Amino acid sequence: MTDRLPSHARVVVVGGGIAGCSVAYHLTKLGWRDVLLLERRELSCGTTWHAAGLVGQLRATQNLTRLAKYGADLYERLEAETGQATGFRRPGSVSLARNAERMHELERLASMARCFGVEVEVVTPKELGRRWPLIRTDDLVGGLWLPRDGRTNPIDTTLALAKGARMGGAAIAENTAVTAVHRRGGAVSGVSTTRGDVACEFVVNCAGMWARELGRLAGVAVPLHASEHFYIVTDPMPGVTPDLPVLRDPDGYIYVREEVGGLLMGGFEPRAKPWGMGGIPEDFAFSLLPEDWDHFQVMMEQALIRIPALETAPVRRHVNGPESFTPDGRYYLGEAPECRNFFVAAGFNSVGIASGAGAGKAVAEWIAGGESPMDLWDVDIRRAAAFQTNPRYLHDRTVEMVGRLYAMHWPFQQPATARGMRTSPLHDRVAAAGACFGETLGWERANWYAAPGTAAEYRYSWGRQNWFPRAAEEHRAVREAVGLFDQSSFTKLRLEGPGALEALQWLCANDVDVPVDRIVYTQMLNRHGGIEADVTVTRLAADAFLIVTGAAVATHDTDWIRRNLAHPGAPGAGRAVLTDLTGASAVLGVMGPRSRDLLARLTDAALDNGAFPFLTSREIWLAAAPVRASRITYVGELGWELYVPAEFAAGMYDALVAAGADMGLRHAGYHAMDSLRIEKAYRSWGHDLGSEDTPWQAGLGFAVRLDKPAPFLGRDALRAQRAEPLRRRMSVLVLDDPEPLLYHDEPIWRDGALVGRVTSGAYGHTVGRAIGLGYVECADGVEDAWVDTGRWEVEIACRRVPARAQLAPPYDPKSLRVRG
Ligand SMILES: Cc1cc2nc3c(=O)[nH]c(=O)nc-3n(C[C@H](O)[C@H](O)[C@H](O)COP(=O)(O)OP(=O)(O)OC[C@H]3O[C@@H](n4cnc5c(N)ncnc54)[C@H](O)[C@@H]3O)c2cc1C
Repeated sequence: MTDRLPSHARVVVVGGGIAGCSVAYHLTKLGWRDVLLLERRELSCGTTWHAAGLVGQLRATQNLTRLAKYGADLYERLEAETGQATGFRRPGSVSLARNAERMHELERLASMARCFGVEVEVVTPKELGRRWPLIRTDDLVGGLWLPRDGRTNPIDTTLALAKGARMGGAAIAENTAVTAVHRRGGAVSGVSTTRGDVACEFVVNCAGMWARELGRLAGVAVPLHASEHFYIVTDPMPGVTPDLPVLRDPDGYIYVREEVGGLLMGGFEPRAKPWGMGGIPEDFAFSLLPEDWDHFQVMMEQALIRIPALETAPVRRHVNGPESFTPDGRYYLGEAPECRNFFVAAGFNSVGIASGAGAGKAVAEWIAGGESPMDLWDVDIRRAAAFQTNPRYLHDRTVEMVGRLYAMHWPFQQPATARGMRTSPLHDRVAAAGACFGETLGWERANWYAAPGTAAEYRYSWGRQNWFPRAAEEHRAVREAVGLFDQSSFTKLRLEGPGALEALQWLCANDVDVPVDRIVYTQMLNRHGGIEADVTVTRLAADAFLIVTGAAVATHDTDWIRRNLAHPGAPGAGRAVLTDLTGASAVLGVMGPRSRDLLARLTDAALDNGAFPFLTSREIWLAAAPVRASRITYVGELGWELYVPAEFAAGMYDALVAAGADMGLRHAGYHAMDSLRIEKAYRSWGHDLGSEDTPWQAGLGFAVRLDKPAPFLGRDALRAQRAEPLRRRMSVLVLDDPEPLLYHDEPIWRDGALVGRVTSGAYGHTVGRAIGLGYVECADGVEDAWVDTGRWEVEIACRRVPARAQLAPPYDPKSLRVRG
């Protein structure tokens, strides 16, 4: 450990838990020597030391799984490299299903695991009993066996990473707390500590449950909250051997593994106990919280059902340790949007040991390379918003998020806590119309509308949920008459100033130098041609543009534009101002073949194709409201998005509803929008599009202008890729059987070979089948003939369902209706 604190380091890593040690280790692997890790007390003293050490590999997405698999591989070889034992072993793991719905979830997971290259086997209760002789199996439906899952000793593994970091040249200073973060010109410039100041170029916030507080010192939002988390350890028990697989019984909220001949049993209870709302005590190191047997009871009861021998096993240790949880259950990685060179790796939601190695590697590469090394959107800190650091919000959500780890992961599941904080100006009106709301980045959004007299509540299942027939009616109304969508949560950004055009021409792959009132659909690309944002740009004036994007990507897309504008020498830099106008206006989507007739009842403006063609926008009067009407659609029909100042929204809404009453006007929600857009194969960023997908691969070449007068970010990469055959390409899969449903991550097979996976799926109510979008791969290039000639199947819960594949949308491929 360092005696004297250096006055300068290139990177300061704050926090000596598994995450911080992993970041330091991986930076040195990349050849960075000038790395200083600062730990308030001693290495691993925060949450890491008391972790149960489960190292599962299967994660929610392909790249997160890749990182977790990397972690297990690293832990396996770390002792040989550093001489410090880790205690890592691979006893495998079993997951149990107590009912058919859970079994279906596990089977879907098994299919997903195959896509992600994780070894997995669906097994019978008998086989589960053979692998885990102490469990009761007569109430089980089946389970999964993952032979490569592991377990490790968290302290030793952290020390091994720290040793490896030191061997690579990093310095580690314990008993050194960071007390301030300094910034210069919007970027990190140094930290103050209890032992003096350190100037630096980068800070990495690996402060675990203190990360919110450390973020605050830098003006960075890191929305996480600690929660109590419990396990017990028994004395040695007969029949418990070191090779017992890790056991997960999610219906009973519990996990179990062998510990020195006894059992370690912990769990994720449905209602958790948030902790530390008023701040984490300064002296909390190698500390635990008081035992709470009453709270633990719900897990203990379930464990006794599963492992009857536990009844008589003496409990040697009760552990109640805090861990940090985030509002959506996923951790945070990456550079904070509020402060350049301030990185975060925190909020691990009880998978920090399994994910710490990969997370540290990703952050180290992100710092060294200046960009995310892969598509990490699911854990990107830029999916959060500043309002989420509100302690009350975090506290209330944390009650729910702990249990969500083992609760059923139903499709379309909405959080039940911390709701109703961020609403559209039309919220009460659409609620009165029967809206059942979902939540996106705090926004309450109408997902579907309940029939009069029925409850606007979800009843979840893997099949057709209770709202399915309602969304089908909404879908049909949009196809046949007219639907009304409240899209107020859209992110609306205004870029204005003498450099605005230049800046946007650089950022957008399409040509935005268009006449005033034209709308341009475009992607913003990174230098590899990967899609960083999928937006519409409306030219408001020679020097002003309205950029519209989704609610979930508000922070991300704003950051992408701002960071590129801030680049010294970037086109337009310093001569354009970006303003977030999201809250200033409501947006109503009026979509469907009768939308023109409906609007005509409320405006004198000409709406015919000559006066108001597709992809144009006009300021018009609609009833008494001043409205920017934009002729654009995400549902594949004639329609307008109406941008109305918030204070005029209710009046305009009332006028539309009254005028549409005899025209079949129907409120429609986001579930209908999803089924409508998928029939039209409209892509969704974060699902079908991301930073590793180029417009060529995504089938969005029509929105790229390689020959526009101004160069744009990513153009060179796109040019180079154009010369190559397209080996990976977005295609549309329509199931032959009208019954099964698609959600996401279902494997796609062609002639018996795995060639891709579904990135988003929905039931197409017009087509009468489930439809999936997904990239498929072929070494010789994905051409029409290859698509047309294959025998296609989509694997759903381990069963392959025949499908038709095509590159064109199944609905209105020539877009005649949109332009009608
Ligand atoms: C009971 C329990 C069981 C668990 N079991 C598992 C499991 O089986 N598998 C799994 O993958 N995960 C498990 N976890 C989760 C896992 O332990 C955590 O996700 C992981 O340890 C988090 O590591 P970290 O480095 O982010 O945080 P920590 O280990 O808390 O490290 C953060 C460090 O930052 C230091 N710090 C904070 N502020 C400052 C400052 N201002 N200056 C300097 N230093 C500072 C702290 O002292 C601390 O040491 C479990 C958690 C609990 C509570």
